[in-house]
Amino acid sequence: MNLSRTTQPKIIAVANQKGGVGKTTTTINLGAALAQAGRRVLLIDLDPQGNASTGLGVESADRNITTYDLLTGDAFPTECAQETEVSNLLIIPATTDLSSADISLMSNEKRSYMLHDALHHPDLDQLDVDYILIDCPPSLNILTVNAMIAANSVVVPLQSEFFALEGLSQLMLTVREVRQTANPNLRIEGVVLTMFDKRNNLCQQVEADARENLGELVFNTVIPRNVRLSEAPSFALSVIDYDPTSKGSVAYLALAAEIIAKETPLKTRRSK
Ligand code: ADP
Ligand code: MG
Repeated sequence: MNLSRTTQPKIIAVANQKGGVGKTTTTINLGAALAQAGRRVLLIDLDPQGNASTGLGVESADRNITTYDLLTGDAFPTECAQETEVSNLLIIPATTDLSSADISLMSNEKRSYMLHDALHHPDLDQLDVDYILIDCPPSLNILTVNAMIAANSVVVPLQSEFFALEGLSQLMLTVREVRQTANPNLRIEGVVLTMFDKRNNLCQQVEADARENLGELVFNTVIPRNVRLSEAPSFALSVIDYDPTSKGSVAYLALAAEIIAKETPLKTRRSK
């Protein structure tokens, strides 16, 4: 255990209520890129579909203790987290138990704070992580609200297509509501354009609109459409291990570097 820890882990929710925009791909590969840069990272699969768990090779048989147990308080983070093939990358896997319907039915009036409470328990210190990345479901439901209440910031993957910005305003409204009530310090870490094709005029238009409307909130790094990114999960690998020189890998390493550049100087540094 690293006794020199001086700060709490930074908790980032990866959210967008649209499905198929690159949330899971971003969570896995940003996590692997941060780990490659010497950070210790915990991924939390908060989508009942469990794509992040599958993509990192956690078989169904190995999902006995899951995010559901974390939320309900039946298990501590140290009991839920599993090592992955990537060193310094841990994951808490999900199964279909984690349906928002089940969570909504819970009578507990603090049901929006379940993830917050689980991650603000002293047990988390034992995992000794620098970052926690939460892979949200494709909805602005109770699970995504749990992520936003638990998080310091939100990374929003934005697919470079028509109507992308319209969906974004709905997401921003939810962020504002959470800020006004449960989590005043919630920040937008950044919006990242995904599946970008620089030869496509529509992609260029979406990027120009996003940068004009959102300015600094848009990451400099753009994630290209890259077949290596879609192939990697079927080998249970991050793209950084699957094909380190691919455009997808280079892009996620650059995205991690942008986030690392914003770390406060106090943040515990690790030598690899
Ligand atoms: P979400 O989690 O938002 O539903 P995913 O990350 O699962 O989205 O991505 C949806 C699909 O698109 C997946 O099949 C994934 O492999 C693919 N994909 C995601 N990002 C890229 C990319 N940059 N290039 C090519 N395919 C991608
Ligand atoms: Mg997903």
